Amino acid sequence: MSIDQQISDYYSKLLKRNAGEPEFHQALAEVLDSLKIVLNKDPHYADYGLVERLCEPERQLIFRVPWVDDGGQIQVNRGFRVQFNSALGPYKGGLRFHPSVNLGIIKFLGFEQIFKNSLTGLPIGGGKGGSDFDPKGKSDAEVMRFCQSFMTELHNHIGEYRDVPAGDIGVGGREIGFLFGQYRRLENKHESGVLTGKGLSWGGSLVRTEATGYGLVYLTSEMMKTHGESFDGAKVIVSGSGNVAIYAAEKVQQLGGTVVAMSDSSGYITTPNGVDLELLKEIKEVRRERISTYAGEAGAGVEYHEGGNVWEVSADVALPCATQNELDGEDAKLLVKNQVRYVAEGANMPCTPEAAHYFVENGIAFAPGKAANAGGVATSALEMQQNASRDSWSFEYTDQRLHEIMSNIFRNIDKTSKEYGLEGDYVAGANIAGFKKVADAMLAQGVI
Ligand code: NDP
Repeated sequence: MSIDQQISDYYSKLLKRNAGEPEFHQALAEVLDSLKIVLNKDPHYADYGLVERLCEPERQLIFRVPWVDDGGQIQVNRGFRVQFNSALGPYKGGLRFHPSVNLGIIKFLGFEQIFKNSLTGLPIGGGKGGSDFDPKGKSDAEVMRFCQSFMTELHNHIGEYRDVPAGDIGVGGREIGFLFGQYRRLENKHESGVLTGKGLSWGGSLVRTEATGYGLVYLTSEMMKTHGESFDGAKVIVSGSGNVAIYAAEKVQQLGGTVVAMSDSSGYITTPNGVDLELLKEIKEVRRERISTYAGEAGAGVEYHEGGNVWEVSADVALPCATQNELDGEDAKLLVKNQVRYVAEGANMPCTPEAAHYFVENGIAFAPGKAANAGGVATSALEMQQNASRDSWSFEYTDQRLHEIMSNIFRNIDKTSKEYGLEGDYVAGANIAGFKKVADAMLAQGVI
């Protein structure tokens, strides 16, 4: 049977085995598509059930998270941790608190994380977790009680050498603080390497807050350089207005670009003269309010479009930084019609397969999330290095390490795309380069 047929048959089996998990299917389809190319060239990667083992998480945990709300009512949420692959190092990946969270979403994120972590060149495996808890509209005390209950189960399964969670959507510094506090209490030890994204005075790293957004812009900048361009003078759409979006916008503007639009799940703003980052951070990070508030306070030139589509705005660069499948085939057509030239994914899988194909087919330089947003996890691994050596590095040094890592990732995926005769297809480049490193480690470690 041909390799292509073997992979197609295997994909059909995976669909049945993981029924009702469309996001996981989407992530599997994209990676398996690229693997056909690798396996045709290097068939030994099909030996020892390697692909089958890679697509099956090493361990999946689902647990009850009961907590008491401010009104004295009992609430019950569901907690997840998927420990997908530890061939390269301890499981590493964020926790997402959002009502849309289910096992399929955590599996898609955990699967992507394996290849992303591999691309960073650092010794970290892939995992992901979270809960269908919605921190929006909850008091600090409710978030704390939820986090304490969540960690009461999770602490049995994590540790510096086992599994090191971090933040993601709905999990920022406040949540990591509550989670760490409960871990410390239950384990009776200050094990700083167990979580990343910590506060600076108790084991956190400078640049971690900025890392995913900054890293995205460093990688995009490297990609633009290969086409003789830079952010200087470029018009850029940054979707979302959370952690990744804010710091992507900041770095774009530091490099001379103008952020012309940002969004949240209720609408988008147009900012033809750029974004006032101090005001945006105050509204989003301190007051935890909506992007519409920014439009109300920023003054002349800024407009809010309730329920509108941010991809209607014309720009040179698009950086989707909100959530999965936020940019579909129609949006891609709109962007290309409006002459976008570069698209890089700050969020995980924000472009649907149709959108990603449309970009590649139309010669748009398109960087997939597993490469472009790896700066967050890379800096988390730098936080782990600082914790292990009881050290803390300066902002400049950490930022420089991040910058080098992101430039190397781009060079690696670019080189790999060329080696496989697919120059400029960074999706294939990222999947293949990320896969080979994990696959080599798995083959060396035997059938486990
Ligand atoms: P945040 O929770 O800080 O921000 C998410 C932002 O996206 C919010 O502004 C939210 O708006 C907006 N949003 C959510 N759904 C939609 C939608 N359908 N349309 C438009 N906007 C929407 O999360 P992060 O910034 O941390 O994460 C964003 C993405 O980046 C996720 O895919 C995450 O997995 C990925 N990522 C994050 C990393 C990190 O270090 N934080 C690392 C690597 C990847 P609203 O307030 O209305 O919900």
